[in-house]
Amino acid sequence: MCEQVGHRHSIFCVVPPHVLREIVRNGGPDARESALKTLSIDNTQRNLRGIRLAAPVDQALAAGVSALGTVQGGKQRTIHGANNTETLPGDVVRSEGAPATGDRAVDEAYDGLGHTYDYYLNILGRNSLDGQGGPLHAVVHFGQNFDNAFWDGRYMVFGDGFLLDHLTDLTVATHELTHGVTEVEAQLLYHKQSGALNEHVSDVFGSVVKQYVNGRQDAGQADWLIGEGIWRDDIQGKALRSMSNPGSAHDDPLIGKDPQPAHMDGYVRTHEDNGGVHINSGIPNRAFYLAATGIGGFAGDKAARIWYATLRDDRLRIRAKFKEFALLTYINAWNLFPEGDEANIVKSAWAEVGIEISQ
Ligand SMILES: [Zn+2]
Ligand SMILES: [Zn+2]
Repeated sequence: MCEQVGHRHSIFCVVPPHVLREIVRNGGPDARESALKTLSIDNTQRNLRGIRLAAPVDQALAAGVSALGTVQGGKQRTIHGANNTETLPGDVVRSEGAPATGDRAVDEAYDGLGHTYDYYLNILGRNSLDGQGGPLHAVVHFGQNFDNAFWDGRYMVFGDGFLLDHLTDLTVATHELTHGVTEVEAQLLYHKQSGALNEHVSDVFGSVVKQYVNGRQDAGQADWLIGEGIWRDDIQGKALRSMSNPGSAHDDPLIGKDPQPAHMDGYVRTHEDNGGVHINSGIPNRAFYLAATGIGGFAGDKAARIWYATLRDDRLRIRAKFKEFALLTYINAWNLFPEGDEANIVKSAWAEVGIEISQ
């Protein structure tokens, strides 16, 4: 934020944050701790400045900061149990450092939050969702037969499911938590193409964090599924969505066929689903898959860093369309990897799903 002119909440720093993030990534425990502390304070200042500027878009952010009160430190997970009610947040059932409880939902949510936190910190140098070490709260056993998981701006909430069996799946948890990151960084409006991009970014990190946990899997070896094995046994479906082959995740009489297009030719115009945000996200999802496999290696190292830089790019409008997002991934690929083929691989990945990048 220090080095960018025209950033929404610019402040002027002696040590720029990208340096601090390098320290967090590469430093020993002590160096890391102090760099994190500095980044936290920087971000607090940035957010306080945001509050003073009081742009309408910053209200959620401002509310988050005042709710947190003080700057927090490292990983701080709290899992609540709603006891199958719809009261949030319910009782604390596991807090940071406590041993496993034996309740699968509780322990999986705890681990999922931990893996997500670790990926963002270790690979991207981001300290928690808000970038300032804010605590992570999840609620499990929400509602009765509740077939969903959601992020409400404060809590990551998981139902026990009815048709869905296993909502605390890691890709789902990371997907939801990443909505918290997008809210802070880009505020992509949850409608039509900008909404599909919001969904897309959550799917990208959902899959990439799973690949990270699988030993920094090679992109070509990954399953690229969101919610693999999440459907009840009698349902014909392998996942909620497939990033490599959108439209192939399920085909069952009860739940229907996966409606995701894999190319702009199949773009769905609808008023449902906020203008198809969970549908048309298949198009950028496949572009990311093509970029990551084209670049090779662990997708979380290069492709996801390009996408993360795009999410943080001040030129990304809250109403961004696919084409604008694609152009910014191309520009950020050049910035991050000026010597390599990455930018051209990114460009052809978008072209393959029907999005031509033109400057
Ligand atoms: Zn910034
Ligand atoms: Zn989502």
